[in-house]
Amino acid sequence: MSLDGAAVTASKLALKTAIQYATERRQFNASSQTDEEVLLDYQRHQRRLFTRLATTYAAGFASEQLLQKFDDVFSGRTDTDEDRQDLETLAAALKPLSTWHALDTLQECREACGGAGFLIENRFASLRADLDVYATFEGDNTVLLQLVAKRLLADYAKEFRNVDFGVLARYVVGQATDAAIHRTGLRGVAQFMADTGSVQKAAIAIKDEASQRALLTDRVQTMVADVGSALKGAGKLPQQQGAALFNSHQNELIEAAQAHAELLQWEAFTEALGKVTDPGTKKVLTWLRDLFGLSLIEENLSWYLMNGRLSMQRARTVGEYINRLLVKIRPHALDLVDAFGFGPEHLRAEIATGAERVRQDEARAYFRRQRASGDAPVDEKILLARKTHGSKTQGIDKRRA
Ligand SMILES: Cc1cc2nc3c(=O)[nH]c(=O)nc-3n(C[C@H](O)[C@H](O)[C@H](O)COP(=O)(O)OP(=O)(O)OC[C@H]3O[C@@H](n4cnc5c(N)ncnc54)[C@H](O)[C@@H]3O)c2cc1C
Repeated sequence: MSLDGAAVTASKLALKTAIQYATERRQFNASSQTDEEVLLDYQRHQRRLFTRLATTYAAGFASEQLLQKFDDVFSGRTDTDEDRQDLETLAAALKPLSTWHALDTLQECREACGGAGFLIENRFASLRADLDVYATFEGDNTVLLQLVAKRLLADYAKEFRNVDFGVLARYVVGQATDAAIHRTGLRGVAQFMADTGSVQKAAIAIKDEASQRALLTDRVQTMVADVGSALKGAGKLPQQQGAALFNSHQNELIEAAQAHAELLQWEAFTEALGKVTDPGTKKVLTWLRDLFGLSLIEENLSWYLMNGRLSMQRARTVGEYINRLLVKIRPHALDLVDAFGFGPEHLRAEIATGAERVRQDEARAYFRRQRASGDAPVDEKILLARKTHGSKTQGIDKRRA
């Protein structure tokens, strides 16, 4: 639990630093002769940072649910054996995702700050070195996900103990309304089945909340059901054969556990949205939640296509829509990282202090003065353009003459 919380905090620190820097650092001047663009106006830079910002918000909300569950159990409010198992499974699901995400985010933010990101004074390198072992200690991430997968299978088996597997595809239980499922974060198979009722609709419109939920939930349910049915009867086989059968599906199992944990993060984000009262904040956070949901769908687009959940045409719209969300989020990017509430005493990174803006402003003022004085060196490209333009004009003048 602590590793999960610390990993989310490290991702937030990295993103605050990288996004602050990207609003100040200027590189290349495609749209003006004199002014360079700030890095954050480049689409690729937005993709790199905003998708990770969205995941960080999701991981943060999920981490808060984990703390709530921890408090419920250890305060004795809800402390049954099942609650303790839920707590363990939830921690085992979230820790791998948030620690891997932190390592990925630290690296991407490091690169997004270029050479400045590599300076030890900006902390990416040391934070990344510190967090490296988070993927291993207190339970190796892959092994933890296997624990989650086993729980999913056990729940699945419990749910369908008396159900003929042949009719499973048509088996749709009523929508689970119990908020406790959300609270524990453990969405039972029953709910997966209920939610998949609208997959067809999801293929029509992938943008709205219900469709995102349907697509993400359907993937987990289908993956668990596929492995569940492949492993049916494994328990009755001799130990060696049973283990071999299990092992031949291990990769799919771990992927199902990961998809399940991603769904928990998405649900935590969506639940948090429901508590936001300020309409402006809600709007921006909804874009960010959509960016998280659609990024997950984009990452697994091959699965959705191979399993007929999205048409080719619809799949092509995912990337386009993500790009539109990036543009909408851009004006709010600084607010979104300032909302983490870090002060300079937490950040302790030179490039998060506004130092780059001061440097850029100084340089721009210097070049402005130089241009105004008429002493500015003339850019070779401009010189060449003048020459070409000049000789063309001369040609026209000669012909006219
Ligand atoms: C810096 C540090 C501090 C630590 N502090 C403590 C401590 O205070 N107390 C304590 O008890 N322990 C501590 N540990 C131990 C830590 O919990 C273990 O390192 C961790 O659980 C992984 O176990 P392992 O090192 O034996 O790796 P292994 O289990 O040998 O794993 C190696 C690799 O094999 C993979 N793997 C293993 N089993 C499977 C499987 N069934 N299927 C697929 N892949 C598999 C793993 O994913 C991993 O990539 C610490 C470790 C480190 C590095």
